[in-house]
Amino acid sequence: MTPRTLLVFIDGFGIGPADPDVNPFMGGTAPVLEAWITQHAAPMEATMGVPGLPQSATGQTALLTGLNAAEQLGSHVQGFPGPELTVLIREHNLYDRLQARGYRATFANAYYLESMPDLLARRRPSVTTVAALKAFGTVRDGAAMRAGRAVYHDLTRQALLERGYEGPVIAPEEAARHLLGIAREHDFTLFEYFESDLAGHRGTLEDARAVARKLDRFAAELERGLDPERELLVVTSDHGNMEDMSSRQHTANPVPFIALGSGSERLLQTVRSITDVTPALLDLYP
Ligand SMILES: [Zn+2]
Repeated sequence: MTPRTLLVFIDGFGIGPADPDVNPFMGGTAPVLEAWITQHAAPMEATMGVPGLPQSATGQTALLTGLNAAEQLGSHVQGFPGPELTVLIREHNLYDRLQARGYRATFANAYYLESMPDLLARRRPSVTTVAALKAFGTVRDGAAMRAGRAVYHDLTRQALLERGYEGPVIAPEEAARHLLGIAREHDFTLFEYFESDLAGHRGTLEDARAVARKLDRFAAELERGLDPERELLVVTSDHGNMEDMSSRQHTANPVPFIALGSGSERLLQTVRSITDVTPALLDLYP
């Protein structure tokens, strides 16, 4: 039976040292994530065999296409995809490949208060947005978010208060319930969280612990709401960063491929690199 898959992509989330003074995911700050990393995760190489520290544009392209994007471009590429990566994403993304097999895929993130022309004109889209715009022609907006049918990237909408949003701010648990609701209407749902990478670059250890606590509340509610017979929860990342607060850079650490629920055991035995994620997920959808 094909599962309903919810893929939660956490930017800058590697498997780090056990020392909680360096790694905010350890030492009891994020007990659910700590248990997932130690009991339900396979470590995946994020470096793709290319020298240098892994970066977001190539790493996310690898996750969402299965291609060794760093090798194809000759280096790890930071931030947003340029023309070459955009072509790879448009031609090989997981959403389109699932849709071509007759499955329903979606991107659950909300974009706030921007019309599609605004979005296209003003933003340099991320890998996940390039893929969503190619596959679906649109992304979810503020109205969908208010109706509980899209999730803002920070989970709680707190970051929107300074952009004219008048509330309510919601709990991470409520964001998790909204996300599970979206996932139940699709065969494959992706949600992207990136405050972890920002905290790794710019935050203090306390900032990183606050991110870990918020993510952990979200994770706990996802686990509580998951139907393990029919649903598959995957949590993974493009490269390390926040798991080692002794540096402000990305790390070369492996990233966790966390899987719970339907089909998770086989997946955990299959994935060894971030390039394995798309092929392994496609195998679940004949
Ligand atoms: Zn980064």
